[in-house]
Amino acid sequence: MTDRFSFALHATDGAARTGLISTPRGGIRTPAFMPVGTAATVKAMLPGSVRQTGADILLGNTYHLMLRPGAERVARLGGLHRFMNWDRPILTDSGGFQVMSLASLRKLTEEGVTFASHIDGSKHMLSPETSMEIQRLLGSDIVMAFDECPALPADRARIEESMRLSMRWAQRSRDAFGDRPGHALFGIQQGGLEPDLREESAEALTGIGFDGYAIGGLAVGEGQEAMFACLDHAPGALPVDKPRYLMGVGKPDDIVGAVKRGVDMMDCVLPSRSGRTGQAWTRRGQVNLRNARHADDPRPLDAACTCPACTGYSRAYLHHVVRAGEMIAGMLLTWHNLHYYQELMGGMRDAIAAGRFAAWEAGFHAARAEGDIERL
Ligand SMILES: [Zn+2]
Repeated sequence: MTDRFSFALHATDGAARTGLISTPRGGIRTPAFMPVGTAATVKAMLPGSVRQTGADILLGNTYHLMLRPGAERVARLGGLHRFMNWDRPILTDSGGFQVMSLASLRKLTEEGVTFASHIDGSKHMLSPETSMEIQRLLGSDIVMAFDECPALPADRARIEESMRLSMRWAQRSRDAFGDRPGHALFGIQQGGLEPDLREESAEALTGIGFDGYAIGGLAVGEGQEAMFACLDHAPGALPVDKPRYLMGVGKPDDIVGAVKRGVDMMDCVLPSRSGRTGQAWTRRGQVNLRNARHADDPRPLDAACTCPACTGYSRAYLHHVVRAGEMIAGMLLTWHNLHYYQELMGGMRDAIAAGRFAAWEAGFHAARAEGDIERL
């Protein structure tokens, strides 16, 4: 155990990296996938079950938690870890991205963003200072700087203006965060798909100095090819000795491509959200358990998977509970999907440590190319 936040890089293979983030609440093996616990819960999962899938850290959403149940209330009840019964590290986003995607009546100024809650229409304000305060009240271990993320496509002038505003907000976030040993503040690189703006943003953030650096403004509709083209240079502009976090990514092949390009941390609602709609992710790609082909299939979803859904149930049962709208469908498939995502991360960590990432990646794509097992 440590009383400080730190990052140790253990091995690299090409641009891919593996290491360990140390925090007072435990270590985070990288590359790391962070399940999303939007409203202080990873939907359909107990915290102990999330841990059993191999997750070292969860993500919480500032926007949702400030509106309901409220950051002051969470603080009075002992902080987010105690409130949701997860004692390991938590990263909270700044609220900026979700204000832009969920709130109404938004008004953006140099000071921050005023908006109306999507729940009850009540008026709120988020700024670098209020975001830092809310994340402090929640007790987040990794706090994200408050930024603005324009939806793509946007013209260069808009992206440039937005990035520079985010850099001014990054400085204000740093000032408001202050010195909090054991807690980390991450800056967020912006600049859309423009290499020179990504460079300028990285320079500004490095000048301010953060404990880690996120790559923001991707996975917002630009497509995988454009995202990878950006990731061919964006992570390399950030300090080599700090964790790099790609926000909101993604599908398994997005994650593999991002790790290959030097990303250390990712989060996405996909494995949990798709688990609630009958979608499973396996080594051989995506499986829709709603499909009638599974109705009489006694085989497990993935015979090689050790999760409860695969060791205890048939495809026929999963199909039945998905079709019947039973709660256990979301529980089992969320568990399987999170388990699969964590195995994916573990496989990459081992491959990078052994210097065989290229061979691992070839195997990953070959298994997916095979597709799901033949129907009976
Ligand atoms: Zn499974």
